[in-house]
Amino acid sequence: MDLKSLIRDIPDFPKPGILFRDITKLLSDPDGLNYTINFLAEKFTAAELNADYVVGIESRGFIVGAPLAYKLGIGFVPVRKTGKLPSSVYSVDYQLHYGVDRLEIHQDALEPGSRVLIADDLIATGGTVSATVNLVQQLGCKPIGFAFIIELRDLEGRKHLPNVPILTIIEY
Ligand code: AMP
Repeated sequence: MDLKSLIRDIPDFPKPGILFRDITKLLSDPDGLNYTINFLAEKFTAAELNADYVVGIESRGFIVGAPLAYKLGIGFVPVRKTGKLPSSVYSVDYQLHYGVDRLEIHQDALEPGSRVLIADDLIATGGTVSATVNLVQQLGCKPIGFAFIIELRDLEGRKHLPNVPILTIIEY
């Protein structure tokens, strides 16, 4: 399926110089959404990774991660921006493609020793997902795979990730 035709490019959003890859048309397209989630779920099932949880990164990572967890029959855990999670958290500061921010996870979100898939809509520099790896490891858990709809290859984000399967569907 030609998923790229469902990605809309918005120049200079949210800051001048950023070409924003907008997935909202893909999400509102029934075939596009279906293909995206099924593709990721089938690849992870075939890889027999035996994950215990999908961790999704706020906020577009929730849209990818929660249906993926549902399809895999495992639980979903949110990693959120600072101040959103109501119970005790671990935090990590990180560099975004267009700014600096902080991510948090509930301290009791994952059973120690769990095997975790991490999901987001897009990998650019890899800063956001690396911060999430850090949080997962703070909970004594192991990232065993990554899922993104889009990869911006020139930014080489994947070189910051552990040597485990990294699934992406659309590349620029
Ligand atoms: P990075 O930390 O540089 O890998 O950036 C990835 C995060 O920022 C993801 O959560 C994306 O949703 C968002 N992001 C970064 N660059 C873009 C872009 N060009 N278009 C859309 N989202 C982006």
